[in-house]
Amino acid sequence: MSKLLVIGGAGYIGCHMVNQLLKAGHDLVVLDDLSTGFENAIVEDDIRLVIGDVGDRRLLDSLFSDEKFDGVLHFASLIQVGESVVEPARYYRSNVAKTLTLLEAMVEHDVGPLIFSSTAAVFGEPEYSPIDEAHPQVPINPYGASKYMVERMLEDFDRAYGLKSVALRYFNAAGADPEGHIGERHDPETHLIPLALHAVLGARPPLKVFGRDYPTKDGTCIRDYIHVTDLAEAHLRALEYLWAGNPTTRFNLGNGNGFSVQAVLDAVERVTGQPVPYEDAPRRAGDPANLVADSRAAKSILGWNPRYADIDTIVAHAWAWEQKRVKLT
Ligand code: UDP
Repeated sequence: MSKLLVIGGAGYIGCHMVNQLLKAGHDLVVLDDLSTGFENAIVEDDIRLVIGDVGDRRLLDSLFSDEKFDGVLHFASLIQVGESVVEPARYYRSNVAKTLTLLEAMVEHDVGPLIFSSTAAVFGEPEYSPIDEAHPQVPINPYGASKYMVERMLEDFDRAYGLKSVALRYFNAAGADPEGHIGERHDPETHLIPLALHAVLGARPPLKVFGRDYPTKDGTCIRDYIHVTDLAEAHLRALEYLWAGNPTTRFNLGNGNGFSVQAVLDAVERVTGQPVPYEDAPRRAGDPANLVADSRAAKSILGWNPRYADIDTIVAHAWAWEQKRVKLT
């Protein structure tokens, strides 16, 4: 059993990670400021939830002095591309400056290794597809740039201070805990699958399909949807990789299968048995036509294999969660 600090453990991906780490028998402390996460996403009562800011150096000093952690997983960040263009200062403060404070505290207290949540947005407009780790990194918005900057810091912190880390670039995290206890919740919600399901439930206006004039088969954007439980599994594998003494690196995480917006809507109709109310809308700024991961490195080096790669399964788990949420509220 290892003791781990999960920063941002009350958020969508973080709470699925917490679930999986507990199942693997680890001892956890969750640090979350609850700015976008939800306290009741932590469904187990035996976890210590510290409500606080990852940029609060005093808090980090006291956490790292109180307990000896075997690793840190850092999920806490702002994630909206459009917002990052309008408010870059907030993004660089939250995603870069606060992470720098965390890295400094980890070095000072000799805590490690670190698993860092990165994103496909570090690549910018794809030059080829699927995107492997060698693809040039030219982020086209402050969100992607903020994650790219941290990736650079991680390399430099390893070289200078020996802090070991793995950055995991998520493509489109989707789905929900197969047991149905937790699922996706954002406020505001901007992601395709929950928005389509909410439209089916009549809880939101019809879904806007952002662009049908992309150079893809059906004209809608193609994304690589990866089940959140598979994502969490990759973090466990990455921790084991670092604990085994392997070097700092980064991996792209996706299913390797792209689905168009229309293909996702078709899956939603198959799973729910109901049509998705939608209307066609102009393109959303900053959306590349096609974002698909080449995850062969994660598979071969980490021994990771997505279990829920099928889009209908991803949508079915999200649907089970949404129906439960409706009953809860
Ligand atoms: N999308 C859409 N309507 C929506 C939300 C998303 O057509 O209301 C499209 C979006 O343009 C993109 C895909 O669905 O092509 C996935 O978007 P999402 O926001 O879920 O993830 P992103 O790819 O931006 O990380």
